[in-house]
This record gives sequence, structure tokens and C-alpha cells, in this order.
Amino acid sequence: MRIGAVIEDQLNRLLEVETDDRFTVESVYYRGDTLCVSTQLGCPVKCSFCASGSNGLIRNLSYEEIVSQYELAVSEGMSIKNIAFAGIGEPLLNWENVKKAFWHFKEKGIRCSFYTTGFPVKHLKELLKLPHNGVNISFHAVSDEKRRKVIPYGEPLHRIIDTLRKHLEKLSNRKKKMYSIAYLLIKDFNDSEEELEKLSDIAKELNIGVSLLKYNEIEGLPYISTTDDEYERAFLFLKKRGVRVTLSNRYRTRKIGGCGTLMVNRLKS
Ligand code: SF4
Repeated sequence: MRIGAVIEDQLNRLLEVETDDRFTVESVYYRGDTLCVSTQLGCPVKCSFCASGSNGLIRNLSYEEIVSQYELAVSEGMSIKNIAFAGIGEPLLNWENVKKAFWHFKEKGIRCSFYTTGFPVKHLKELLKLPHNGVNISFHAVSDEKRRKVIPYGEPLHRIIDTLRKHLEKLSNRKKKMYSIAYLLIKDFNDSEEELEKLSDIAKELNIGVSLLKYNEIEGLPYISTTDDEYERAFLFLKKRGVRVTLSNRYRTRKIGGCGTLMVNRLKS
């Protein structure tokens, strides 16, 4: 692995890392202490709003390739205290290599958080038991039928909720704060009051927060993002119903902010 390019804006630094078989994969450095790493070349989950998974899976990244993203970032002078397994790929679908990388980072004293669709659920159960520093699970819809439209190869929502319920009931309120539901707000798709009401019921029942994400529009994909006003209205609606809700952070809303906007490219030979 080696660095192909480093692209910067005022907030983020995007690293294009080249693999030995001549693909590039992307990692994002943000907040001055966090590196978001990719776990797969492409992604088999094929979320319909996501550029990273639009061409399906090419292959899993090896353990060495996951750790290399960190080492290359450090060699570029980036100081890293947190790793977010949140780049290209579904970490649970490359579980053995991701787990090995997780333990490697933990041994170095680096905090690790995960962003996952929860698929497959047998690995989600294992992940929940690891000494992680946060797990954010993508819902993006409140019914199985609608979730299948945005996350076609994920687990049914009710299985994810059952798994979370069983895990969370044993935890203190303080520990529950490490878990959250990711909800990508898409205009005229999942932003009705009825859906937000159902979302708030689920979050309150599980007693975890909601990370309300603003959609980054991607050329060629059929979804549109809400206006800032609509986004804020949805946020206030959930808040009023007693949900611990956070807005997209300012790093994520950048063009090179990751989360569905990262790409895999084949280098020309
Ligand atoms: S959002 Fe994540 S899980 Fe879904 S296709 Fe993109 S990389 Fe894969």
C-alpha cells in the first residue's frame, strides 16, 4: 500500500491509498484526531444512496491493508487518537480482518468506533460485546419494507432491533450512550412526521440516541437532500419527543467528508 494523493479542504484530509493490485481506497482524517478507515474495496451491501457501494464488492481489505491506512496517515504527520471503522465497506462483512485490526489499534491505546448496517447479525452480536468506543447502527427507515429499498442486502430491521434490545437491557444508562441509531434524512422518502414519530418511539424504547444525518446528494442517484430548514425541523421534532439527537457534524457535510461519498477506483495500468 502507498499513498496516491492527499486532498485537503478547510476541515478534512482525504487520503487516496493505492493497493498493490492497483486499486485506490479512501480514508478521511478529520477533527484533528480521527481517521475514518475503509474495510472493503467496494461494498456488497449496495445501499442505494451510496457512491461507495454502487459497483458492489471487489474484495475485502486484508488486516494489513486496514492497518496500513493508519500507518500511512501517521507517516503524513497526522496525529490519530480515534479510528472510525466508517469508510468504504461494511465492517461486519470482513469481520475477521476488522477484528484483528481493532485489537491492534486497541493495544496502541487508540479508541475505536464502528458504523455498521448490522449485517450479518451474528457478527453484530460479537461487535456489541467488544470493548469498543461507540457503535452507530444505520436504520435509515422505520419499516423493513422501506429499509430494503435503501439497504437492499442488510438484515431486516426487526432482527437488528431485537439484537440491540437484548444487548442493551443489561447495560447501565451511561454505557448505553455509546450506541446510536444513524438515520439518513432523505427528502420525501423517510422524513414524514409519522416516520419520525416511529423513530422516536424505537430510540426511546431502546434508550439510545439518534444521529440524524443530512444526505450528501450524489450525481446520478435518485435521492434529494432536505433543505437546512427541513433538516432542522426534523431535529427539533425528535428533540421535542424526548430523543437524544445529534446533527451531522460539520466534517461529514463536506464533499470529502466520507459516509457514502468515498470511492474505489481502478488505476490505469
Ligand atoms: S453506506 Fe456503507 S454499507 Fe452501505 S453501501 Fe455504502 S459503504 Fe456499504
